[in-house]
Order: sequence, then C-alpha cells, then structure tokens
Amino acid sequence: MVSKRLTVITTGGTIAASTDDDGVRRPTVHGADLVSGVGAGSAEVTVVDLMARDSSELTPVDWGRMLAAVRAGVDGGADGVVVTHGTDTCEETALWLELGYTGDAPVVLTGAQRSADAPDADGPGNLRDALRLAADPAARGLGVLVCFAGQVLAPLGLHKTTTSDLTGFSGARVGTVAGDRVSLDGEKVRPQLPVTAPPRVDIVALYAGADAAALDACVAAGARGIVLEALGSGNAGTAVIDGVRRHCRDGVAVAVSSRVPGARVGAAYGPGRALVDAGAVMVPRLRPPQARVLLMAALCAGPPVADAVDRWG
Ligand code: GLU
Repeated sequence: MVSKRLTVITTGGTIAASTDDDGVRRPTVHGADLVSGVGAGSAEVTVVDLMARDSSELTPVDWGRMLAAVRAGVDGGADGVVVTHGTDTCEETALWLELGYTGDAPVVLTGAQRSADAPDADGPGNLRDALRLAADPAARGLGVLVCFAGQVLAPLGLHKTTTSDLTGFSGARVGTVAGDRVSLDGEKVRPQLPVTAPPRVDIVALYAGADAAALDACVAAGARGIVLEALGSGNAGTAVIDGVRRHCRDGVAVAVSSRVPGARVGAAYGPGRALVDAGAVMVPRLRPPQARVLLMAALCAGPPVADAVDRWG
C-alpha cells in the first residue's frame, strides 16, 4: 500500500500551549512534538512550524502566509494538509483559506480547548482525527474542513460558541471522525473567491443610543468596508443610518450582521429597511467576524459585493 503524504502546518493556539510559572498559557510546543505519539497511521508526515501565536494575535497578513504554506504543501505533493490553530479566530482563518484555496487535497484545521500540558488534553485526539480526515479519500475535493471534538464542520458559518466545552464550535456539520472511521455524510458548500491582499474592513458594534463616531473613525482610518454588528434582525438608530448613507455614497461597502447569535438578518423592520435604502447589504446568516472575512474577499474580487453576500452570506 502506498502511504499517504500529509503536511502539518502549526500556527500556535491552545493545542500548542504550555502553562508558564504565572499560570498563563502560551504556544510553545513544536509541531514535531505535537505529532509524535499521536498516531498518524501509515501516513508520512512533514511538519512546517509556520508560527507560534495565540490566534487572537493573527492578522490578515497571517492568513495570506497560511494560504501560501497550504499551497506549498500541496504543490510539494501532500495528499492532505492539517493546520493547527487557536480557537479564538479559527472561524476567520478557516473561511479565508476556504475562499482562496482551490486544490483537491483536503485542508483540515484543528485545535484544542485544553493546553498541551493539561493531563486531559484534547489536542492529541483532535490532531489524530484531523490527520485521519486529511488522509481520507472521501475528503478530496471538499476544500477546507474543521475537525474538532469528533465533528467535521464546514468553514462557512463556523462560530466559536464556548471557551471551555470541548465541542468548541457550532457550524454546518459535514461528518464525524470516530477512531479510524471517517464518515462524511453531510452536504458542504465550497465558497470560492480570488483572494489577494485584503483591504481594511472593520466591525462596528451597535447598541442603544449608538452614534456614527465609531463608523466615521473606521472610515477615516482607511476602511473600505464596514460590517455593522447591528441590533436584532439588522437594525440601527438614525445617527448610524445617516452615517451609513454618507459613507455608501462615498463608495464604502457596508454589510449588516447582528449582535444576536443565530439571528436571521433582513430588512424586516423600518430601521433595517432604511439601512438597505442607505446602501447597506444585509448578510442574512453569518456572524460579524465571518461577514467581515466575506466582505474582505468580495472587495478583493471586485464589486459588487452583494453578489458574494447573496451566494454565501
Ligand atoms: N487564545 C487561544 C487561541 O485562540 C484560545 C483559548 C481561549 O481564549 O479560549 O489561541
């Protein structure tokens, strides 16, 4: 039997974290140590220690470095790629990689809720599952997958929902990994856009009585797009709506998400209708962090951004 060639790209996160003398967790563990003892089956594993960062510190430049490393692994002959990553911004990286990666070899993101030095660390099990998934022929052509606590989830719609429970995320289920058994029985959407260097896009949180000060400051700082973390099903007060009208007229793209988890966003009420009339685009399903990633990619691809939001928002 020809053994599979897998590339593991490490970026840091809890899965690679140890606890220092002050009780603070920081990513210190190298990829070779993460992989050793995990049990990669008959696969031949190449490790690329790309970065060692808490994922809250990652930037869009880092997404580009990860995408380049994934492409290099696949171009170098990998049958599958695993990216180890912190949970804080996994939903952003996963969607950016999904949009930009066009290959057939599966790319699997995983991480952990407990640090590598915890007696009951979940990272080794998650990494083993991710390696199984990346080596599985059924995963070919599916693009990017997230493997966590035995669940296989799609990047689009992924959202971190807990800082302690081992499940970590909610999102669209594509399948499961249990021991050696990979089962991919769910439908998966594979959004694709030709991503390049992303423009600045900021998220503006709304609340009762919010004015346009934050919105104006973001545009003044160079934002070409704004995601409103709006109220309810996509609403805002008059001052914000007026600000949106001004900035849309000047060519800034404004997308509306919601601060309510699980909200279905649309112009169902007067203020939401007024946002759309002012030039904003409603993002029906994505939480603000992924609405931002989609807007960044859509701006790379070129306007109108509404097309990408219609398809995948
Ligand atoms: N900060 C960790 C990371 O994303 C995740 C742990 C947490 O904050 O819950 O790398």
